[in-house]
Amino acid sequence: MAGASFARWRGSPNHYQGRLGLHVDHITLHIMVGRLAGTDSCFMRSSFRAASHYGVGGNGDIYQWVDEANGSWADANWQSDCSGITIEHEGGMAGIPVTDAEVEASARLCADIARRYNWKTLWHDASGNRAGNIVLHREVPGTDHYGCPDRCVNPLPVDRIINRANEILGGDNMPTANEIAEAVWNFVQNGVKCRDRLQGIDIAANSINNKVGEKVWGFDINGTQARDRLQGVDAIQLPKLTAQVTALTEAVKTLAESKGVDPDQIAAAVEKAVRAKLDKLQITVTDGQ
Ligand SMILES: [Zn+2]
Repeated sequence: MAGASFARWRGSPNHYQGRLGLHVDHITLHIMVGRLAGTDSCFMRSSFRAASHYGVGGNGDIYQWVDEANGSWADANWQSDCSGITIEHEGGMAGIPVTDAEVEASARLCADIARRYNWKTLWHDASGNRAGNIVLHREVPGTDHYGCPDRCVNPLPVDRIINRANEILGGDNMPTANEIAEAVWNFVQNGVKCRDRLQGIDIAANSINNKVGEKVWGFDINGTQARDRLQGVDAIQLPKLTAQVTALTEAVKTLAESKGVDPDQIAAAVEKAVRAKLDKLQITVTDGQ
């Protein structure tokens, strides 16, 4: 049985056997001028001599009376019947409006048919020449249902159904959240996939930190790398401190030995002793004046 998987199968006897050599190239839209339940009871009677493939109710119910492998008896034109899939809709008379749920269900059904017959988009030829894959019953030659489906009380909002169906069909081409995420992960920038770039950020960042560290350590101050300078602070500073202590020690020693001698002689002796020591250490002193 060919048809929409979500339709409720009813099985009317009123239809062609097969499609008389024609193939499906359009959907014909109808309006019941009544309700789904009443249409169903008519279509299920063989004496009624008519049935459409589908019927959509005001509550969104979808009935299927005729296998899509067969032409239906709905359009009052054997060629249209045998090359079309016919859909009846609840409404078309006072007190029976076409509901939002019905529009949604009909659009879903039209989109399902379009998918199965490989139609990328649904369209109605507004000139009435039936060039599109959506045909209105009133446009089919031979019909006397001049108001079907959109020129009547509570008419079928044909364009709304088509637009919504195309929206559903267009949705087929929209990527899923996972597909978008995958595409982002796999996006290549400057030869590197986003995925690898993000996963490698720690490594890259660490490598940058290391490089910065290297730069700092290697920074040259007066011919000495910061590394050596920092590591060599003791080595550089200690001789200077040692020299000062040695010089002072020598000065004090000399002063003590020269007790009682006049100040000039003390000063000369201290200077001589200090100088001798400092010369040995190869350190220059200023006199503070
Ligand atoms: Zn009709």
